[in-house]
Amino acid sequence: MSITAQSVWNNCLNFIKDNIQPQAYKTWFEPIIAVKLTDNALSVQVPSKFFYEWLEEHYVKILKVALTKELGETAKLVYIIKMENTYGNKQPFTERIPSSNRSSVKAQDIDVPLKNKDRELRNPFIIPGIRNVKIESQLNPNYNFDNFLEGDSNRLARSAGLAVSAKPGGTSFNPLLIFGGVGLGKTHLAHAIGVDIKDKYPEKTVLYISAEKFTQQYIDSVKKNNRNDFIHFYQLIDVLVIDDVQFLSGKSGTQDVFFHIFNHLHQNGKQVILTSDKAPVDMQDIEQRLLSRFKWGLSAELQTPDFETRVSILKNKLYRDGVEMPDDIIEYVAKNIKTNIRELEGAIISLIAQSSFNKKEINIELAKQVVEKFVKNTKREVSIDYIQKIVSDYFQMDVDTLQSKTRKRHIVQARQLAMFFAKKFTKASLASIGSQIGKRDHATVLHACKTVDNLSSTDKQFRKYVEDLTKKLSV
Ligand code: ADP
Ligand code: MG
Repeated sequence: MSITAQSVWNNCLNFIKDNIQPQAYKTWFEPIIAVKLTDNALSVQVPSKFFYEWLEEHYVKILKVALTKELGETAKLVYIIKMENTYGNKQPFTERIPSSNRSSVKAQDIDVPLKNKDRELRNPFIIPGIRNVKIESQLNPNYNFDNFLEGDSNRLARSAGLAVSAKPGGTSFNPLLIFGGVGLGKTHLAHAIGVDIKDKYPEKTVLYISAEKFTQQYIDSVKKNNRNDFIHFYQLIDVLVIDDVQFLSGKSGTQDVFFHIFNHLHQNGKQVILTSDKAPVDMQDIEQRLLSRFKWGLSAELQTPDFETRVSILKNKLYRDGVEMPDDIIEYVAKNIKTNIRELEGAIISLIAQSSFNKKEINIELAKQVVEKFVKNTKREVSIDYIQKIVSDYFQMDVDTLQSKTRKRHIVQARQLAMFFAKKFTKASLASIGSQIGKRDHATVLHACKTVDNLSSTDKQFRKYVEDLTKKLSV
């Protein structure tokens, strides 16, 4: 049988599996891909630099034993790191690093020195040993202002973004918090601001990071006992973009460290840009002191785009992709997919794919099929309009009555139920639910939700309403 990278690695895995905890095996070994075997060097691909550091720190011995068993004393291990965040490059950017497993690696093979004791600062993005590497911004140049189309739904957020990128840290929009539902352009806009700043101020250190990754780095830094290095690294940044901060909910350690980083940056006139799927008032399990910081600057909402904006987003995308499509098809798609720009683009892409795979002409019939499938497959979120319609039908009133200012008990109850279900079945914020159901404020919606909770546990008839409506809304 010929020896391949795969077979060697499989044997190593079997050995390693028997010798470490199953969870550790799953976390640190399953994601590794054996890539190539040349002479006695096995190249494996790992998902990140962190991953590589972790392996080197914790598993280098077992790796050595396993590899030596397979390939003999001269065995070598080479890591290939596949960078996650190199947009725009066609080829994944890889970096090759020999293992620090000194006894089996000849000195000249080590082109990246792995001693890092003498470094003052550990940059979470940089391999230990490489000095003076610029902090990579992790920005996606394909997300820029030019292709972020303006509409009523995003005008405030977009202009605020432009103001910030013209004068990072120099406006009162600090932090700038961009919030809104899934697929409405938060990540795109956040990158666009960063990209524009990099363009205008190349000397500024800009960093884009998801709150999830930030959290992971923080946890790693605690494990490795270098929490201070972590904080210090983030305090060096001029423009910090943290995407999806709602992810910090309930993670008090990460919130705490972010609080310190935030304060330092803010005091030093550095710009902070945050995105979230909720308005600050609706964020749960985020410490008060952090929430109050979020409110210091500007919170700008990305709302669902109107029909015209949806059409221009689609046209722009088609134009950039060099695809022509009749207006009535574009309008059909824009009419039927309303609440998520990612879905909107997805439908157009699958329409193009369908037509080219099956050599079918793109016509309304095909568009219908694709949109239907698309909407079904993605389990479209029920809309607040739909909820109001179902609730008013159920109580045999019209939507205007449900929204009216009257205090009549059965109408108030219907309205409260609509608010309750809007909170339950959509991702809309309390404030946005309130404004859509009769222009009420977020406190009214919160009160409605509590009332419905109370009544359904004390009032039998009311519980029946809730059950009936739940059924109607779940199909
Ligand atoms: P979110 O982070 O809010 O979930 P994204 O930023 O990932 O949403 O946006 C989803 C998709 O919609 C992306 O492909 C993005 O380029 C596109 N998109 C969102 N808003 C706009 C806009 N105003 N103009 C053009 N494309 C947009
Ligand atoms: Mg996003």
